[in-house]
Parts: sequence; C-alpha cells; structure tokens
Amino acid sequence: MEINPKEIIALMRDPSDADKALILKAFAFADKAHGEKKRASGEPYIIHPFNTALILAEFKADAETIAAGLLHDTVEDTEVTLADIEREFSKQIAFMVEGVTKLGALKYRGTNRHAESLRKLFVAMAEDIRIIMIRLADRLHNVRTLNHLPADKQKRIALETLEIYAPLANRLGVWRLKGMLEDASFPYAFPDDYQKVVALRKTKGKETIKRLEKIYRTLQKELSARGLKDFVIDYRIKYLYSLYTKLLRKNMDMDEIYDISALRVIVKTNDECYQALGVIHNLWRPIPGRLKDYIANPKPNGYQSIHTSIFTGDGNALEIQIRTEQMQNEAEYGIASHVVYDEQGKKNKKNGTIGEKITKDMAWVEELIEWQKHLKDDTEFISFVKDRLVHERIFVFTPKGEVVELPKNATPIDFAYAIHSDIGHHAFGAKVNKKMSSLDTKLKNGDLVEIATSKNSKPSKKWLDFTKTTDAKRHIRNYLLTNKI
Ligand code: MN
Repeated sequence: MEINPKEIIALMRDPSDADKALILKAFAFADKAHGEKKRASGEPYIIHPFNTALILAEFKADAETIAAGLLHDTVEDTEVTLADIEREFSKQIAFMVEGVTKLGALKYRGTNRHAESLRKLFVAMAEDIRIIMIRLADRLHNVRTLNHLPADKQKRIALETLEIYAPLANRLGVWRLKGMLEDASFPYAFPDDYQKVVALRKTKGKETIKRLEKIYRTLQKELSARGLKDFVIDYRIKYLYSLYTKLLRKNMDMDEIYDISALRVIVKTNDECYQALGVIHNLWRPIPGRLKDYIANPKPNGYQSIHTSIFTGDGNALEIQIRTEQMQNEAEYGIASHVVYDEQGKKNKKNGTIGEKITKDMAWVEELIEWQKHLKDDTEFISFVKDRLVHERIFVFTPKGEVVELPKNATPIDFAYAIHSDIGHHAFGAKVNKKMSSLDTKLKNGDLVEIATSKNSKPSKKWLDFTKTTDAKRHIRNYLLTNKI
C-alpha cells in the first residue's frame, strides 16, 4: 500500500497552509520514529498511525487532532518522549498523545486492567473529547486489520468493540463511526450470523438498489427542473450490524424489514428542505402520519431533518430524509463536528449553542466518573458502564406506585432484587399487570410488578440466565457461593 500524507490533507476540511505543514511534519516525525518496525501483517508500522489519521481526517477532525493521531503510538512504542513532542509540536498535541498512550498502555490484560483502562477512558474523555476520537479511530483501524491476529484475540477485541467502543461512538453522536466499528467487528464477534446476514442482504439488497436507482434518477431530474441547485442525493443499504440487530428482533425474517435502505436529500438551506419536500410529495403519494418535521421541532438531542415515507408505486414504501449540509455534518460527525468548529472558530457562535451542546453531551461522562467512585470492584464497573451505554432503560412500578428503573428486557427477578435482596432471595412468583407471570418474563416500560415470596424459596443457578442487572447477578452469585450450590 502506498503511504502518502497528502491523502490525509485531501480529506481535511479547509486546511490552512499551517495545518498542511503540521500534518506533513507529524507524518515525517512518526515515520522516522517507528523506523523499520512492522505490524502483525508484516507491513511497515507507520501504516497504522497513517490510517488512524486518515479516519480522523475523514471525520473532519482538526489538524491538531490528526497530528496527534499520527503520533499516537510514538511514545508507547519508540524512543520518543512526551517532552520531544511538546518541543517539536505543541503542549496540546503532547497532551492528547499522552491521553491516548495512557489508555493504550493498558489494553488486553485481563478484567482488572480492562476496567482500569475504561476508567481512564472516561477521565480522558472529560479532559479532552478529542482523545477519545483518536482512540476510536485507532480502534477502527485495529478491528479492520484483525485478520492478522490469532482467533481468540480477534473475538475478544471484536466483542469489546461492540460492547464499549461502538456504543461510545453512538453516545458521542458519531453515528457513521459507530456503524463502521460495528461492521468491522461483526464477522469476528459472530461469524455464523454474519454469513447469514450477508446472504440475506444480498438477495434483498439487489432489488432494493434497483428501486433506489430509479427513484434517485426521477428525483434528480425533478429537483433540477424546479430550480434547486447544489443538492446531493445519496442512498445506501443499511449497515450490516444494525440490520442484524433488527433481524434479531424479527426472528431473522427479512420480509419483516422494510427499511434496509435510506435515501437522503441534502440541500443548502432550510427553505430548500421544504421545497424539496414539496417536490417529493408531488411525485409520490406520502404515507399518512409518517411526515416528521425535526427541523421545526428538533429532537431533544438536537437532531434535525425532515422525514417522510412515500409509496413508490411498485407496491413498496420508502423513507426519505431531507436536511441541510450542516444538519448532515452534525448527524454524521456528532460531537466531533462541534469540536472542529469550536477549535477553528469558523462557525458562528452567536447564540452559544455549540458550547452548550458539548457541555450537555459531556454531563453524562462526568456522571459516570462520579458513579464509578462508589462501585467496589472492576467487574461491577464494567457491567455498570455496559448497562449505561448499551441498554435502554425501562421504568416499572411497585404496587404502591414507586418507580423502579431497570435495563431493557429485565425480569421480575431483577425487579425483586432492586427492591430488596431478601425479596429476591425468596421470590417464587410474580404478577405483571395483575396477571400471574413467570419469573423470566421480560418486563416492559410501565409494567406494574408484584413479587410473591416464600420462606422456602431460594435463588437458583438458572436465574443467572435471565437476569439483566449487575445487582441481581451479584446477589445470586453470592448466594450460590455461600450456600455452595
Ligand atoms: Mn494504535
């Protein structure tokens, strides 16, 4: 593979001459530092920091972040010191490299080390979110090159990526990066299911693409005819892993999946969004009740776009999203796009919303750091993070109307332990919404739950299969252990 730092520059958003010079310098510095060292693939080591930087540039990170991405493994793997980097580059770049190094030094060394690196991850995140962007880009290149590692390592890294890094990217609003992390990990985490989904998508995907192409051409012509200029229409089949999680919910039945594709119209101004909507509704009949105007009424997380679904005339339906370039940037690059704008001061900050949004986005990180201080051991911490990152939460009620917060798919056993460990230990039956239900029933938001206890009932090993909360599992394990079951 040809390695040319100009490829990185070509992907950057409006780089200044100083930005370009910084990238070339960081590349030369890293290249020299890594010298003859090779990757597991046998390629020169520089290919890894180079690709990390390419990913960062693709996600429109600023020049400093990309430079830090090029340098991210020098301190850990070569003679270079942080002082060298600070002297040659800047304090800020050295700080980011240090952040990534601290995180990286702890990788793949068992549960304790894993928890420790997670802790550091969140601390680093609070200090400078760009450190996490570098870490995510680093991870993406590593999962993309997993084929050179032994099988057990492949699986572990892939699962860790799905459980921690992809949700993290999602939480930061970098949805495209989340999709990329998941799709790169999927074949190593669940090889059999991966093959199945690829096959399913192949059969269904071909006809979908044909339909999309036809709609694309019609829309392209009509938008131009109505005087719209500078618009982009793109369409794609959904990410494999997100298709997989959808299929899991539908018993792997592809016919149940309507939205395997997405068509998007990207225009310059808000006005043009509404113009485009008019053109679309004129061409195809909209499905009643499916029009959502998130431009006038943004989602709570700030997401903006118009969504509409149309009958395409051949017995199919299609969702179309209409948004401006700026809305598109925010949706694709999430918090990364805010940081770029903030750092370079290019975007107007007249109403202060950008800074506020970052603060709001970061509040949960600080909350996590605060919470983890109260958790005793590392396994508990990891489960806790996974709970918070991955699982949606539901709220159920006690007969007295008290609210209990649980992860999605929690069962009456989780509920019982959330009330009191004694109730958990002696649970023998449950009523959900006043109906007798088994202890492994999946609870839903708003359920009213009542637990029947008996002195003679005690926890069983089977409960571990269907409990979701860290708390319940811990109580059950302790019980089984102390009673030698
Ligand atoms: Mn690395």
